[in-house]
Amino acid sequence: MSIQVLPPQVANQIAAGEVVERPSAVVKELMENCLDAGATRILVEIVNGGAKKILIRDNGCGIPQNELALALKRHATSKLSSIQDLNRLTSMGFRGEALASIAAVSRLTLTSKPASQNMAYAVEVEGIAQEPKISPASHPDGTTIEALDLFFNTPARRRFLKSEKTEFLQVEEVFKRIAISRPDVAFVLKNNGKVVYDLKAVGFQNEIRRLEALLGKGIASELNFFEWSDTSLSIRGYVSVRAKSKPVQYFFVNGRIVRDKVVIHAVREAYESVFAEKGDVSYVCFLQMPPEDVDINVHPQKSEVRFQESRRVHDFIQTSVMNVFRNAQMVLPETMND
Ligand code: ADP
Ligand code: MG
Repeated sequence: MSIQVLPPQVANQIAAGEVVERPSAVVKELMENCLDAGATRILVEIVNGGAKKILIRDNGCGIPQNELALALKRHATSKLSSIQDLNRLTSMGFRGEALASIAAVSRLTLTSKPASQNMAYAVEVEGIAQEPKISPASHPDGTTIEALDLFFNTPARRRFLKSEKTEFLQVEEVFKRIAISRPDVAFVLKNNGKVVYDLKAVGFQNEIRRLEALLGKGIASELNFFEWSDTSLSIRGYVSVRAKSKPVQYFFVNGRIVRDKVVIHAVREAYESVFAEKGDVSYVCFLQMPPEDVDINVHPQKSEVRFQESRRVHDFIQTSVMNVFRNAQMVLPETMND
C-alpha cells in the first residue's frame, strides 16, 4: 500500500482511542471539564457500565452558543494558547482533545447555558461523520454532556470492554478520586438509576467527612492529619500509621491524581526508617508545587508526572510523613500493626 494521509474521521477515531480507552476515561475527562468550568455541583449517571450511557451535568460557566461546535473540535481549548501557558497551567484539561475524542466514538449531545445567555442550546454529533447539529434546548445554567453507545462505530474497541461490573468499578474509582480532591464541590453518582453516592459539599475544613463517605469510617478513623512546607513545596493530607496488605493510597499533585514511583518509595522509606520493617500504609495527600517544576504532559491520561527535582520532592515527602510516624510511635503501643 502506498503512503496516504488518513481521512480526518479515521485519524480522529485512532487518536480517540488514546484518550478514551474505556468509560472511566470518559468520566474522568468530563468531570475534570466540570471542575475547570467552576462547577459546585456535578452529577454522574452511568448505564450499563457506561457502554450504554454516560451523562455528566454541572452548574459551571457553560459554553456560549457560538462556541458549541468548536468545543467538539480537536485541539480546541479555552485553557491554553501558547506553549508557555503549559508551564503555569492551573486547569485540569489543556489538550482540547477530550470532547473531540468522545464525540468521535459515541452519539454525543452537549447541552449548555452560560448564565449570561437567555436560552440553552444543544449540539448533537454522531461519531463526527456529519456536521454538528445545533438547536435550542432547555437547561439550567451549566452544561450536560450525554455520550450514548460508546465505541458504537469502533467495534474492536467495543469488544475490548470488560463486564458491566468491572467497567462500573473503574468509573467509581475515577469518581472517588475526583470527589476526594474537591470536598468543596457536591457530587452525585448514579448507576442504572440507583444513587451510589450523594456527597454534599463539606468544604476543606470538614474534608474528613468526605473521606468517611468515600473510604468508609474505618479507614478514615485511622488517618492522621499532617501539614508540612518548605520554600516552594507544601503538602497536607492524611496518613495511617498501620501497615496493611491493601492500603488505600491517593496522592494528588496540584490537584491531579498521580501514581508515581517517587511518591510510593518516599512513603515506604519513611515507614521503614521509623518502624524498622517494611510496610505500606494508607494515605490521602495533596502536594502543591510551582507548576513549572512538574511536567504533567507525560501521559495522555495525565496519571504520570515528571518532577524537575525528583530527589528533592522525594525527600520532602519522606520527611513530612516520617514526622507523623515518629509522633505516632511515641504514643502507640508497639503491637498496633496488622
Ligand atoms: P480541554 O479540557 O483540554 O480544554 P476538552 O475537549 O475537554 O478540552 O474541552 C474543550 C473546551 O470545551 C474546553 O476548553 C472548554 O472551553 C469547553 N468545555 C468542555 N466541557 C465544559 C463544561 N462542562 N463546561 C464549560 N465548558 C466546557
Ligand atoms: Mg478537558
